[in-house]
Amino acid sequence: MNVFTTRKSLNEALASLKEAKKSVGFVPTMGALHEGHLALVKRALSESDTVVVSIFVNPTQFNNMQDLDKYPRMLQADVDLLNSIGEVIVFAPTVEEVYPENDTYTPLDLEGIDNVMEGEFRPGHFQGVVHVVRNLFQIVQPNQAYFGLKDFQQVAVIRLLTKKYNFPIQIIACPTLRETNGLAMSSRNLRLTEKEREDALIIIQTLKYIQSLKATKTPKEAKELAMEYFSNGKLRLEYLEIVNGANLKSLDNEWDEYSVVCLAAFCGAVRLIDNLELV
Ligand code: AMP
Repeated sequence: MNVFTTRKSLNEALASLKEAKKSVGFVPTMGALHEGHLALVKRALSESDTVVVSIFVNPTQFNNMQDLDKYPRMLQADVDLLNSIGEVIVFAPTVEEVYPENDTYTPLDLEGIDNVMEGEFRPGHFQGVVHVVRNLFQIVQPNQAYFGLKDFQQVAVIRLLTKKYNFPIQIIACPTLRETNGLAMSSRNLRLTEKEREDALIIIQTLKYIQSLKATKTPKEAKELAMEYFSNGKLRLEYLEIVNGANLKSLDNEWDEYSVVCLAAFCGAVRLIDNLELV
């Protein structure tokens, strides 16, 4: 498998493919790959001539240095896993490659969608995401890029940045992969004990509880009941919001056609997020 660590070597490898008008699919990741990531890569492989998977733990999107330090890093295992599903190009750059000295990035106006939910509890997080994705898009210049709905708000931010920078890139959002017990797959799950993995199930149970209340309660009432339900578990809630899936505005008295419940909580020292599109 081809593993490139510099933008120059990656560009050289991609140049002839682009000249031959081959389509490039791109899956940005922070590594510690699991089935959820692989589902994105498989989809990209089925829809593109060439697939680039980046593995880069992006320091600018962490607002907690401990979280950054503890983020799992396992490049060789990731490459082996990718090898087992197909032929992809891996881009595993250093911080200096992604953020060169002549970087021209200035903060992008995200029209408020970066201030709610994740943005409220992780100030600066989405500017970090925008910065890294903008730089990676400029390096890779893919035709299409694949993101997981597990990071629901992130997908909204990526769609907005793509529009604002006029990137000719199709953004493809893919469903969340879960363990059989319902726990959303996440690289952070590696840091959970067996017991904590059990405790974490309160997340999906709460999301499903809200789904079950939708027919008879307003969003506000459902949220109150769900917060009470969640408080019987062991996790510490950061937020539980029922929002319009397009503009991320909170819903109070009326459900929207596209209503989504988003939740973030600490399970021990590990911060987990999940969401459910309500039908
Ligand atoms: P990360 O490495 O956590 O930055 O994730 C890289 C990409 O994989 C992002 O687009 C995530 O939304 C996506 N992803 C992470 N977990 C899952 C999952 N359980 N199901 C589907 N996609 C996921």
